[in-house]
Parts: sequence; structure tokens; C-alpha cells
Amino acid sequence: MLRRISTAFLLICTLFLTSCTTEVENTSVSFTAMDTYIKLTASADHKKVLNRGKKYILSLDKQTNRYDELSDISKINKNGGGVVNDDLLPLLKSAQEYARLTNGAFNPCLGNVIDLWQIGKDDFRIPKKNEIDKAVSSSSYTSLEIDGSKISLDNGTTLDLGGIAKGYACDKTAEILKQAGVKSALLDVGGSIGAIGTKENDKPWVISLADPKGGQSIGTLNLENCFAVTSGNYQRFSEKNGKRYCHIFNNFGRPVNNKFTSVTVVCDSAQKADALSTALFVMGPLGTKRFYENVGGFEAVYVTDSKVIVTPGLTTKFTHTNKGYAYEVQQV
Ligand code: ADP
Ligand code: MG
Repeated sequence: MLRRISTAFLLICTLFLTSCTTEVENTSVSFTAMDTYIKLTASADHKKVLNRGKKYILSLDKQTNRYDELSDISKINKNGGGVVNDDLLPLLKSAQEYARLTNGAFNPCLGNVIDLWQIGKDDFRIPKKNEIDKAVSSSSYTSLEIDGSKISLDNGTTLDLGGIAKGYACDKTAEILKQAGVKSALLDVGGSIGAIGTKENDKPWVISLADPKGGQSIGTLNLENCFAVTSGNYQRFSEKNGKRYCHIFNNFGRPVNNKFTSVTVVCDSAQKADALSTALFVMGPLGTKRFYENVGGFEAVYVTDSKVIVTPGLTTKFTHTNKGYAYEVQQV
């Protein structure tokens, strides 16, 4: 949590600096929900609609928080299914769609694996192989079935929407704002960023990408009418004997351990960017390149210990500022 807030803080500092040159007076609504820090910014006359966005996110949090016994998702997990409402249904459908598209690299059914490891918590421990195998046997994305508004889960599977819910919240908040006539806004739902329109005078919104090693930022991204989401090994993790265990898992039930330290996805939907940033982080460099070529529909910034790799569509939007990293454009 603390690390998430410091990541968000970096972003906010950038926004503050860039807003020094603004002529339009902006206002923000900041709050904590979905286990993260949220900041919604638009011109001062839109305070009311920003509060409507806040209300929506708080209500979505109540439905999707699996650690709240009374939430809809907790009931589904406890009962192995149930009927869901119009808000949760599209979120679950979207989670299933991205699980299929990524062949399970994005997996919304990893609750049992996540609970076993307790990454980032005091109860963190490295589980035994037989415990991991058992958790994996009840964590397949194919055990989620959706029939109309009826959800079923087999085999004691536990849904965990942590890899997509903030993106979904960002998309829905963007819709609420746009429907109310907002033409320019910046949404930060715990790092799921939504850029509505431009900042002012056709200037893009500028966000800063955190350095996974904790140094100065990697660089900046210009955003305009799009969404950007980062997954990384620095936001929430545990350490043992000098080894870092991050909060994103592969389908072997183990914390991801490949060359990537962060992946930022930029595309036309925050839930897609959220699901894909998690999935690409799991896939690692090779799988990611193949996915970009074969599926596509997004641009990305990949960070390893020594390099920043940018997909061709972002070369004019990304500014590389951290010379501690080499800069490369991905060959396709
Ligand atoms: P953040 O936690 O910053 O939103 P992600 O979007 O990558 O980062 O989501 C990570 C969260 O998603 C984890 O805390 C966990 O709840 C869940 N998760 C972990 N591994 C996966 C995975 N392979 N697919 C989908 N969700 C995952
Ligand atoms: Mg995600």
C-alpha cells in the first residue's frame, strides 16, 4: 500500500509541476478506495461530476473487494457462483475475455494462489511445492463460466479481480464524466490512468513513469484521449534472502520472475490496459513480442534492469529521461 501511494505521489508531483503553466483552473477529488490512492482531475466547474465519479468508484469497490465478506464477489467466491448485477457482469465478462485472449497469462481466478503466498503482508512465506500444486489445481481461468447473468466457478476456485478492477473503474468513471460533457480530465485510479481529451490548448496530459529501482522516473508519456496502466514488481512485493517476490503470479502458481521489472500499456480502454499490463508482465520479453505482433491493439513501455523498450507507436509520445537505462525501440 505504501509503495502504491509513493508511486501515485510521483505522478501527482509531475502533474503539479506541469499544472504550473496552466491557465485553466483545475480541481481534483482525491480519496482512497480499491486499496489504493485515487485522484480525479478536471476543470474547476466540474467538481460535482468528479464527486459522482468518486461515488461510483466507492460503490464498485463494495462489489469487487473480495476481502469484504459482504461484497458481491465474496458471495460468489463463497457459494461457487451466483447471479450478478449489471455492473459486475461486464467486469467479469471482460476479465474472462482477457483471460482467453492472453491464454491465461491474465487470470482472474488466482485467488487461492494469491492467498497462499500473502505477498506484501506480514504472513508472507514461501509455500511448499505440494501446497502450490494444490492451489494451482483450483485456479484455472476456465473454471469461470458465465451464462446470462449467472456466474459459476468450479472446484473451490476464488475470483480475484485485482488485475482489472481499477482499470474497469477508470473506464466507467471516464464514461460518467464524458456523458456529463467533460472534455478534459485526468483520472488516476491507483495507477490506471485515463486521459480525457487534452490538458488545455491542445497540450497533452503528461505522466511520469516510475523507476522500478526507486530512482528518478524512467521517462514521461504524453497522453491524449487514451488510457495507460503499469504493472511492475516494485509496487507490492516481499523479500527473502535477498530475493524479491512480486504480487503478480504465473500459471505455475509462482510470483513472476522474468526480465521485466515493469510494463506500461497504452490503449483505448483502461480495463484492457490493466489486464494486458498484468498479462504482458507475466509473459515476459519473448511472449510479449509475439503477442504484440499476433494480437496487437496496444502500445507499451517495457522496463528491464538495464533497458527501456518502447513499441513503435509510442516513439513520439515517450520521452526517455533516465540515462541509467538504455533506450530501445522494439523491432517488429
Ligand atoms: P496493481 O496491483 O498495481 O493493480 P496489476 O494490475 O498487475 O497491478 O494487478 C496485480 C493484482 O492482480 C495482484 O495483486 C492480484 O490481486 C492479481 N493478480 C496477480 N497475478 C495475476 C495474474 N496473472 N492475472 C490476473 N490477476 C493477477
Ligand atoms: Mg492489471
